[in-house]
Amino acid sequence: MAIDVRSDTVTKPTPEMRQVMFEAPVGDDVYGEDPTINHLEEFTAALLGKEAGLFVPSGTMANQVAILAHTERGDEVFIHRDSHAYYYEGGAAAMWSGVTWNLLDGDEGTPSGDGLQKAIRPANIHHPRPRLLSLENTHNRAGGAAIDLRRMMSSIDVARKHDLLAHLDGARLFNASVALNVAAADLAAPFDSVSVCLSKGLGAPVGSVLVGSQAFIDRGRMFRKWLGGGMRQAGILAAAGHYALTHHVERLAHDHARALRLVEQLRAMGYHIFVPEVPTNMVMVDLPVAADVAIEALKQHNVLVGAMGPKRLRLVTHLDVDDNGIDETIAAFGRLYETFYA
Ligand SMILES: *Cc1c(COP(=O)(O)O)cnc(C)c1O
Repeated sequence: MAIDVRSDTVTKPTPEMRQVMFEAPVGDDVYGEDPTINHLEEFTAALLGKEAGLFVPSGTMANQVAILAHTERGDEVFIHRDSHAYYYEGGAAAMWSGVTWNLLDGDEGTPSGDGLQKAIRPANIHHPRPRLLSLENTHNRAGGAAIDLRRMMSSIDVARKHDLLAHLDGARLFNASVALNVAAADLAAPFDSVSVCLSKGLGAPVGSVLVGSQAFIDRGRMFRKWLGGGMRQAGILAAAGHYALTHHVERLAHDHARALRLVEQLRAMGYHIFVPEVPTNMVMVDLPVAADVAIEALKQHNVLVGAMGPKRLRLVTHLDVDDNGIDETIAAFGRLYETFYA
């Protein structure tokens, strides 16, 4: 079988995870009667130090429900231009919430307090209402960068001064927590809402959880229904998510160690690797050839990788790639070095 490091979303449920899915008690969640979903929502909220949680089919829906629940049409949402909710969600916030983006810059996908301060304009009938700041941790397009609280607080402090709400796209928040050795609840604490993906490095097949205050989640539950995300006996999926949160968080350290080994070995061969300040489970390889060409060549050597730019590859470690998989990946890059740098 091919070594698949395109993304940590490609993981398959383990036999143990499938067993808890098989045994999960279920009910109609739109009636609030799925005990496994109710448990996952309460468990995740408690884990992240918030009042309530909402199980949704995807990370995209979690972010979109959050924006819907926090804003009114026309409101201004401040976000880094490389963030997933802006860059990779197909303009969904414009479609569903009708919000205005205000795109910020900043190192590693994280705006500075200064940058936000300059972007916020005074109340005036010419300006949209500034309403929400949205951050991301780990930051995907910044190479899986784990962002510490000090860097997060720079813009959050400014947001609070201006009565903005704050949302965290924490699709890979547990990677950040493990890499920084800071509790996920502490990384979540300054935010009004946080979304986490169960289907990335944590290895569940489907699902995300959005957490926040009870009032926010009550409103979010309505928007989830409107978006078509009210599922029925989805406790089968929530059981996998709960298993992932209780069994697959600490092991993320192995993914990070394997990513580091990739970095060291590929660098030793002469590859140019981008590494963020605090790396996690991603490796960004910068090439002199088109990413598409490299992807095809690596595929011939049984290694599947993704692109993160015209000449940048993204490799992501996860629970279905063991040390042998890393060795095979390194070997394939070794055989192709002359081709790429010819
Ligand atoms: C994957 C991802 C999402 C969206 O998740 P989907 O389940 O693919 O919709 C949101 N934010 C970030 C940072 C992600 O990496």
